[in-house]
Amino acid sequence: MRSALLQNGFRLSNEPQQADFLLINSCSFIREAQEETIATVFESLKLRDSKNKKMKVGLIGCFAERFSENVKTEIPELDFMVGTGKYHELPMILSQAYGIELNAHAALQAGDMSDSQNKLPYAWFRIAQGCSRHCAFCILPKIRGSLSPYDASSLERQWSEESRSPGSTPLREVILVSQDTISQGIDELRNIIEFFSKKDEVQWIRLQYLFPDRRVLKLLDLFQEFPKLVPYLDIPFQHVSQRMLEKMKRPSDTGLFKEILAKAVEVNPSTEIRTSLILGFPGEEQEDVETIRTFLTENTIHKLALFRYSHETGTYAGDHFTDDLSDDQKIERINDIRNLHLQLRQQHRSDLTGTIQELLVDEVAPGEIIARRPQDAPEIDEIVFLPFKKGIKPGDFVQASLDTPMEYDWMGSFADQITT
Ligand code: SF4
Repeated sequence: MRSALLQNGFRLSNEPQQADFLLINSCSFIREAQEETIATVFESLKLRDSKNKKMKVGLIGCFAERFSENVKTEIPELDFMVGTGKYHELPMILSQAYGIELNAHAALQAGDMSDSQNKLPYAWFRIAQGCSRHCAFCILPKIRGSLSPYDASSLERQWSEESRSPGSTPLREVILVSQDTISQGIDELRNIIEFFSKKDEVQWIRLQYLFPDRRVLKLLDLFQEFPKLVPYLDIPFQHVSQRMLEKMKRPSDTGLFKEILAKAVEVNPSTEIRTSLILGFPGEEQEDVETIRTFLTENTIHKLALFRYSHETGTYAGDHFTDDLSDDQKIERINDIRNLHLQLRQQHRSDLTGTIQELLVDEVAPGEIIARRPQDAPEIDEIVFLPFKKGIKPGDFVQASLDTPMEYDWMGSFADQITT
């Protein structure tokens, strides 16, 4: 969306109140996301009405697609809506609606274009769209459609949009995302990883959202073949009680989950695991929560996202089950599991304390430097705060000591010279 707009002469504004268009890219996946979207819409409309009445406010993406009729009737103050899959048409839609001449300014060259926006040494690449599975709690296949096959030309296009010119922040980390990454198949994933492995400036390649099926075991073999793959496994289990997994229409072979976790560490002992769990799915009993407690105690999970079950019309669970647990019960279970997880991760955190690690510098601010280990995904996992040091730029690799663990992040100090 950003590239399409920039290529057609639009410019990004750092001052929302001065913008001609305010675009809200939305999510409708679960109730919290819907609430956040609605709150953002009303904040934006307030900004328009109080600061810049000429501004046009548009709702883009998933929420606009899923609830278009409701939004039209309930928030008529919105100027326009554009659903998923139409991001690239946005310049044309705005041009037609508001009589804007496209390419009114000379479009910037691809390198200049991304340099003007990309100050970060990492970027996400979408390798596929949609999902062909039928998890009982998930609305996504209905919103995004079934899984699209990998398209090499789309990857080339995304690469050119992200390319950086000499002297600007290099692209050090590539994060491969889709709704169901493993279903591209091992051969395709191999091609994609190879494509990025050949790019000299890219040093880290991260895979996200690996559905826990047997192919993950094969995928782990690629970690030895491609050393740029970071020691990080993002594998959402969603539950670990067999009974609940069956109700959720998810793979219920928790033996496989354990096999995957064991192999990940065997392939590289420094691998860290991220998973997510949904608490409060219909019919969940206290014994299912106990099963989670046992699983977490017996298997090392370094990073854990916990979601409160959201009862969504249009999903199998939303249409066939009763949302039989109150929000308070769901939150209580989440808090219980979160506390256990925080306690269990202490050992790993103390093992890391005082170690020297190679970190990627993400941001340099006046008083501090923000960097990250390869085991931490940007904007999700832990960061390391380092003291400001002249000469260090985003995209540099530095040696640093992890001095003090904070609740989630770290305070660190430089241990060595910079490597670029
Ligand atoms: S695999 Fe993920 S995106 Fe697909 S239906 Fe299941 S939860 Fe939804």
